[in-house]
Amino acid sequence: MTDRNIPVLEIFGPTVQGEGMVIGRKTMFVRTAGCDYSCNWCDSAFTWDGSSKHNIRLLSAQQIWEELSHIGGDGFAHVTLSGGNPALLPQLSSLVGLLHEHGIQVALETQGSRWQDWFLAIDELTLSPKPSSSGMATDWLRLDAIVARLKDHARTFSLKVVIFDDADLDYAADVHKRYPGVPFYVQTGNGQLKESEAEQLLPYLLKQYQWLIERVMADHRLKRVSVLPQLHTWVWGNKKGV
Ligand code: SF4
Repeated sequence: MTDRNIPVLEIFGPTVQGEGMVIGRKTMFVRTAGCDYSCNWCDSAFTWDGSSKHNIRLLSAQQIWEELSHIGGDGFAHVTLSGGNPALLPQLSSLVGLLHEHGIQVALETQGSRWQDWFLAIDELTLSPKPSSSGMATDWLRLDAIVARLKDHARTFSLKVVIFDDADLDYAADVHKRYPGVPFYVQTGNGQLKESEAEQLLPYLLKQYQWLIERVMADHRLKRVSVLPQLHTWVWGNKKGV
């Protein structure tokens, strides 16, 4: 074990990616521990609030690959790095390299608060800056720099904003205007994280999605935009590890 090892909370799959530019894609997940944000509505707060710190494992890239292979067999070709914020971890470059050696594509979602050089090797990168309902403040200059670097290297990436209310829509419109050429997704938020029954959650999620569609269709600031639900919550509710 070295400090090049990766703090991991979950390895699971195959399942479908429930969010963003690769929604619906068959993928494995590696969820890392730690986040530099503490969003009000975080659905993965256990990655940073200390409640699961006893479950953090420090694993090498090879150990992660072996676990992915053990769980997923040869039935997957895609891995999603999720968190927390995986962008806190420079040592993920070893895992991205190893996955590529095995012919596996790699997706990443991060809020765009930190840069890592291994971003340039990611096949599908989603920058998901957080709107006002999160309680977090966006460092626009830092996000500008990350977007510029990805563009300079002609990388495939998208922007995604989770929407809970009209103020979040204003934020999304600002993001869309600031980075006009970047594929742009808005996605419903889940404000009922304590609901344990998927069937009980679904009517609420459906209503949220209908609300978001109506708002975006009427909003002339949001033109080249895709409107998404958080797909996995429709199927599994708030269950972890699916
Ligand atoms: Fe949670 Fe993501 Fe916000 Fe971090 S950036 S607190 S993982 S929602």
